[in-house]
Amino acid sequence: MPDNIVNKAIVCPMCGELGKAEIYTSVNTTVNKALRSKVLDGELFSWHCPSCNYRARLNYPILYNDMKNRFMVYLIPKIDRYQLCDKELEEKYSNLRNISKRITADFNSFKEKIFIFESGLDDMAVELTKLAISQTVSKKLGGAEITDGYLSMYDRETNTMGFTYFAGEERKPYVQTARLEIYGKSKDIIDRFAIKDKKLKGFIKIDKEWAENILYRYKRAKHIEKLNKLKE
Ligand SMILES: [Zn+2]
Repeated sequence: MPDNIVNKAIVCPMCGELGKAEIYTSVNTTVNKALRSKVLDGELFSWHCPSCNYRARLNYPILYNDMKNRFMVYLIPKIDRYQLCDKELEEKYSNLRNISKRITADFNSFKEKIFIFESGLDDMAVELTKLAISQTVSKKLGGAEITDGYLSMYDRETNTMGFTYFAGEERKPYVQTARLEIYGKSKDIIDRFAIKDKKLKGFIKIDKEWAENILYRYKRAKHIEKLNKLKE
């Protein structure tokens, strides 16, 4: 068996029968292209009981490695850390430089990262754009709380980007498109305020919380600039 697959014993939650599951600890889509779609449509995580046919979805950590597009996304369900420095992993992939390495805590953001990096976008700038537009969406919906949102469309030709947001307790989906100029502006902000983050070692979590922090730093700097101008 390849070293990226482990066998796990699973007790069926329906019939109680002891079964087995093959679990991928990592996938390298440059080596095995077919795994990409199996990850994205969730097939890789689906399990069915041979005795009663019960179907379940398995949640486990998986490292997604796309060498061609130079990114790695580590899905670790419910991880609540900002940075993960895994010595063993760093050594294993030390020959790969300038690779974007991310951790995500849930499947949706995991899929989103793959989409962003495959599209050749900067995920930090996307996250900031998403945050800025979510505020507009919230206003449009009468101040509804936006629980989460994902980049769902990117079209270089029509110069647009689309985000799907989930609003309120019912998590109603709301799609909002935006011109790429907002993304460009976000990228300028990132280039100024996320220099340190870009140099960080290991896997980092670039999410809404991170974007809020960058936006805060940006606004504070703008405020100081204004004050300095007044002094002149
Ligand atoms: Zn069963």
